[in-house]
Amino acid sequence: MNWALIGYGGMGHWHVRKLQSMPAEFHIKGVYDILPEKNTQAQRDGLHAYATLEALLGDESVELVTIATPNDSHLPLAQAAMEHGKHVICEKPVALSTAELERLIEVSVRTNRIFTVHQNRRWDEDFLIVRKLMRDQTLGNTFCVESRVHGSRGVPGDWRNRKAHGGGMILDWGVHLLDQLLQLTDEDVVSVYCQVTHVTNDEVDDGFKAFLTFQCGLTAEVEVGTSHFISMPRWFVCGQNGTAIVRDWQLHGEIVKVSDWENRDAVPVVTAAGLTKTMAPRTEDTIDTYPLPGVESDVRDFYRNAANAIRGKEAQLVTLAQMLRVMRLMEALFRSANQNEVIRQHI
Ligand code: NAD
Repeated sequence: MNWALIGYGGMGHWHVRKLQSMPAEFHIKGVYDILPEKNTQAQRDGLHAYATLEALLGDESVELVTIATPNDSHLPLAQAAMEHGKHVICEKPVALSTAELERLIEVSVRTNRIFTVHQNRRWDEDFLIVRKLMRDQTLGNTFCVESRVHGSRGVPGDWRNRKAHGGGMILDWGVHLLDQLLQLTDEDVVSVYCQVTHVTNDEVDDGFKAFLTFQCGLTAEVEVGTSHFISMPRWFVCGQNGTAIVRDWQLHGEIVKVSDWENRDAVPVVTAAGLTKTMAPRTEDTIDTYPLPGVESDVRDFYRNAANAIRGKEAQLVTLAQMLRVMRLMEALFRSANQNEVIRQHI
C-alpha cells in the first residue's frame, strides 16, 4: 500500500520507522512537513519530501495518509486528505471536540474513505495483561481498576502547553488511558468526576485525576501526573478473589489470590496508637502469589488492520463509534473539572 506522512516530528519519525520495517506491506511515497528544515531532514533520511501539502494530496498513487501534526491541525488536514480521496490514520487525539469529530466522520462516510485514529497503546503489554486478567476473570469479578502514568517533567514546552494547539494532559495521555479503559469492559460509563492540576502550567492541565463508574458498578481511577518524582504503579486491579499489580512498562508485578477464604485468623497489627485485625496482612498459608501472564503484541498490527480495512478484508479495529466515545468521555472530564461536579451521563 502506498503511504505518505504529514508532519515529520517526533511521532512522524516513529511512523516512518515502523513502516520501514514492513517493506512487503507498505511503500513509503514521502513526507510533508510545514517546516522546510523538517523536509530537508526527511531528504537526509532518504525519504522523498513533497514541496507542498497540495503536492502530497495530489499524488494519486498515495492511498493512505498518516497525520502526525499538533492536535489542532488534525481537523483541516484529515478533511483535506479524505476530500482528495486518501484513507486517513490520524494521530490522537483525533480532534478537539465531539463536534469536530462528527464533522470528520461525515466526511469519511461521504467520501467512503477509511478514517481511524492511532490508538497504538492498545498494543502496550501492560494494558494487554490487565485486559487478559479481566477477560479470564483471573481475580474473580473485578470491582476496581486503577490506571496511572506519572512523570516529573511537567508538560513538554512545545505546542503541548498551548490551549489553542489542543495541549494539556487529558488530550495527550488521557486519550490513551481512557481508550484503554473502554476496551476493558462492554459496560457504559454512568458517571465521571475529574480534577485537573496546574502545578507547572496555568494555560492547560498538566495532569488530572478522574473517577469513573460503569453501569455494572465497576469503578476506575485514571490519573496522569507530570510533577511526580515517585511513580505509583501503572495498574492496580482488584477482584473479589485477588489483586494484581503491574508496576511499570517493564511489566514488573504480581497477582495475589486468596487460597483459603475460611481461615479468618488474623494476627492483629499493633501501631503506635492502636491495633487492627481488619487491616492485618494475610498469613502466607491463605494466599498464593502468581506471576503476571505473558501476552504477545506487535503494534504493527494496527497498520495491518488499517490496510486490510481499506481492502475490505477486515473490520476497522479502532472504530468511529469508539473514537466518538473516547471524545465524549474526555469532554465529560473537562466539564466535571470546570464545574467541580459529578457528570452523570451514559457514555
Ligand atoms: P512534534 O511537534 O514533534 O511534531 C509535529 C510536526 O508537525 C512538526 O514537525 C511540525 O513542524 C509539523 N506540523 C505542524 N503543523 C503542520 C501542518 N499544518 N502541516 C504539516 N506539518 C505540520 O509533535 P509530536 O510529538 O510528533 O506529535 C504529533 C502528533 O502525534 C500529536 O497529535 C500527538 O498527540 C501525537 N503523538 C502520538 C503519540 C502516540 O503514542 N500515539 C506519541 C506522541 C505524539
